[in-house]
Amino acid sequence: MNILVINAGSSSLKYQLFDMDTETVLAKGLCERIGLDGHLKHTPLVGDKVVYNEDIELKDHSVAIAAVIDKLVSAEYGVVSSMSEIDAVGHRVVHGGEMFNESTLITAEVMKAIEDCIPLAPLHNPANITGIKACQEVMGEDVPQIAVFDTAFHQTMPEKAYMYAIPYSYYKNDKIRRYGFHGTSHRYVAAKAAELMGKPAEDIKIVTCHMGNGSSICAVDGGKSVDTSMGFTPLAGLPMGTRCGDIDAGIMEYIMNKYDVNIKDMMNILNKKSGMVGVSELSSDFRDLGDAKDNDQAQLALDMFCYSVAKTVGSYVVAMGGVDAIIFTAGVGENSRSVRAAVCKYLKAIGAVMDEDKNNACRGEADIATDDSAVRLWVIPTNEELVIARDAKVIVSK
Ligand code: ADP
Repeated sequence: MNILVINAGSSSLKYQLFDMDTETVLAKGLCERIGLDGHLKHTPLVGDKVVYNEDIELKDHSVAIAAVIDKLVSAEYGVVSSMSEIDAVGHRVVHGGEMFNESTLITAEVMKAIEDCIPLAPLHNPANITGIKACQEVMGEDVPQIAVFDTAFHQTMPEKAYMYAIPYSYYKNDKIRRYGFHGTSHRYVAAKAAELMGKPAEDIKIVTCHMGNGSSICAVDGGKSVDTSMGFTPLAGLPMGTRCGDIDAGIMEYIMNKYDVNIKDMMNILNKKSGMVGVSELSSDFRDLGDAKDNDQAQLALDMFCYSVAKTVGSYVVAMGGVDAIIFTAGVGENSRSVRAAVCKYLKAIGAVMDEDKNNACRGEADIATDDSAVRLWVIPTNEELVIARDAKVIVSK
């Protein structure tokens, strides 16, 4: 069974085609500048086909999907012989609100529910919907389309974890609550950790640290998310590449009044000009900050990030009444030895002891805790696309 995984943004579209009998990626690629001039990079990963990397007119998402399919089936760049060899499409959908606690086959009713979640994710859900509609248009209504939500995994959080202490009516009428994001990634690495540790997921307590441009932490008790650091929007929790994370809401009023800033510009400051780039005044990229050894502000930004990660992990250990393993994943978690080491320095307090040699030698999946550490420390590369493909396979096989 071949499954196409689509992650549609407002002007971009990432894809991977999986052979789900072997769980291998046949081809992957990226459409950029959709609606502007357009560019497609398509990389076949099997056989002797060649990479396509060209500017190409992509006036909308339907044209982009058609171009992707064209490459997937072409003699020169293709990995399947016709569109009929694509059995289903799995879509990343950012917000499923309280409606979706698992992945689902997209029907007219489901489409309406995803549309109803637009106010909760005004930048992301419309793009995801455009991607779904484009696939339906190009591939026809008979190819099953599956939605996999970033928020779904966190729907198991208890009320005390997802409610905000603001007037209750805002929850009742407007669904303002913590939703959490990166759910597909947290779910994947938590399940993988249980598998690597040879324990049933139901029996263990895990804290997963997804640390990339956007970062979030999740407490996974018995395979279920019980708390997470992102909130009503992905702005909450840790300081990130360009996002502020948790701040005192009063700061907004102060800045807006003092500098005559309107709410739109204020949100832009908090989403795009804060976090690592805001504090360092250098870069949002963790590699740049790590390289800038003599730059105090760059080192301060990194210190703030690592401190915040450690503090959040600690709070989740208390929330769950213990922890068996802590997982590092995503761009920074998988690649930055120095960030892992700095976070783990704090984690000694909860009995998690990192082995420096294992941390330095780590490539791919690895347990970097000392043999006698009371808590395991795992580095596990995330794979959200594979989860989407697996969910799609399960749903279409039913
Ligand atoms: P996104 O949230 O965009 O998916 P990623 O998970 O790809 O982000 O993570 C991107 C971040 O990972 C960047 O800040 C980048 O600097 C960081 N990163 C990637 N490789 C390394 C590395 N070797 N050392 C430190 N940071 C790294």
